[in-house]
Amino acid sequence: MRNKVKQQSPQERVKNFNEVSLGFSDEQALLEAKRCIQCKNPLCVKGCPVNVDIPAFIKLIKEGKRKESLAKLKEKNNLPAICGRVCPQEDQCEKECILNKKGMPINIGALERYAADHEVDEPLNRAAEAKQHPEGVKIAVVGSGPAGLTCAADLAKIGHSVTLYESLHIPGGVLSYGIPEFRLPKKIVAGEVEYIKSLGVKVQPDSLVGRAPTVDELFHQGVKAVFVATGAGLPQFLGIPGENLNCIYSANEFLTRINLMKAYRFPEYNTPINIGKRVAVIGGGNVALDCARCAMRLGKDVILVYRRTEAQMPARKEEIENAKEEGFKFSMLTQPVKFSGDDKGFVKGVECIQMKLGEPDASGRRRPVPIEGSNFIIEAETVVVAVGQSPNPLLPASTRGLETTAHGTIKVDENFATSLKGVFAGGDITTGADTVISAMGAGKKAALEIDKYVRSLK
Ligand code: FAD
Ligand code: SF4
Repeated sequence: MRNKVKQQSPQERVKNFNEVSLGFSDEQALLEAKRCIQCKNPLCVKGCPVNVDIPAFIKLIKEGKRKESLAKLKEKNNLPAICGRVCPQEDQCEKECILNKKGMPINIGALERYAADHEVDEPLNRAAEAKQHPEGVKIAVVGSGPAGLTCAADLAKIGHSVTLYESLHIPGGVLSYGIPEFRLPKKIVAGEVEYIKSLGVKVQPDSLVGRAPTVDELFHQGVKAVFVATGAGLPQFLGIPGENLNCIYSANEFLTRINLMKAYRFPEYNTPINIGKRVAVIGGGNVALDCARCAMRLGKDVILVYRRTEAQMPARKEEIENAKEEGFKFSMLTQPVKFSGDDKGFVKGVECIQMKLGEPDASGRRRPVPIEGSNFIIEAETVVVAVGQSPNPLLPASTRGLETTAHGTIKVDENFATSLKGVFAGGDITTGADTVISAMGAGKKAALEIDKYVRSLK
């Protein structure tokens, strides 16, 4: 039987921003680790984008060697406490686990978190991992999300002198400003940033590369290579009438105000957010669920408006279940067509049309088709639009010669090299909005390519 992690009860957790999942106890972790049959040809490893030696780290947990288990994880994954919490394991390692044939894959994510959380009490001697490399050169990493953090850490471990530039005042990218505290406590992210600093990486917040400094200026300052990991943080909108009304937020602004600016801790933090009693969140991905669940915790009546059905929601299954338990309403097969406002310019409702599922579209999912004459109004004093993000345009736009695709992503070859000599890129800025682990995988592989490149300069 697959062991499940304990969670705060739904009634309790909708009143606070504390972590929902409480993680495995020692006993549960041991029981779950014992279920792993230590496959000779472990399919789970192939399902992991950074190829963590999963049976090996699980075996160490089984032997009671939690610290060694963490060290094993860290051979391939610099951010296990984060991945253990937010990776879509059900689509990756757990999907491939041999025991999934019987519908009971090993709970690899929970075991990963269990091993990683060990460090909260007993840190490894992490700085020792940084090699004093006599050939180390100056390298700039731009953007401190999972791609940038991973690349910076791996370059520092090789022995290079790495500066990590971040435009916001706090590093971590989406891990800090996007994913809410109740899914990923910020002390975990801060701990991982400290680890990266302990490897010798210099973190420079409040630095918008492309403005000050530019990529050219970095090279003039003696940097030999630049890794661009600026993510996909540009909000997309619906493009329907009334979208400029007050209290219609992009998901990015809504989450940044709540998570990074700590609006949920007003008045302790003097950065409140103006939210009415009824909140409509538009979208069906992780981002939409995060917004809806934040609004619930602020005591609001929340409705999630999605144009397809639950089965087609791109959000993680676990998060959909959690959200349902927390009790907000869903309006499926619903497409907003217009926002209406009051005479002061504030939103008061969303006019929607009912949809039905038609033939599959390019994504393979059945296309939602409007039902003529089915329009109806959802009343709401606040709307959050969470229908996708595009690549951050500033750095590509301000860096002459840096080629981009029609979607605004930076073009890279199989070695993460861009059209500019010495400039590499990876993560959401090259793929469009993706996952934490795929951004980390890119950062890891790019670090090796960057190391090869700077050595070739000698
Ligand atoms: P980001 O994390 O976006 O980091 C980019 C960083 O670059 C940002 O800090 C930004 O401020 C900085 N930056 C941008 N331009 C500049 C510049 N010019 N100069 C300096 N710095 C700059 N994935 C999962 O796997 N599981 C989840 O549960 C999950 N939930 C999500 C929830 C939300 C709300 C969001 C928005 C995304 C979620 N994702 C999730 C997706 C995942 O977080 C991203 O795929 C991942 O963070 C991308 O990493 P990145 O390093 O490429 O970019
Ligand atoms: Fe263990 Fe499943 Fe991996 Fe086999 S596939 S080694 S059972 S986690």
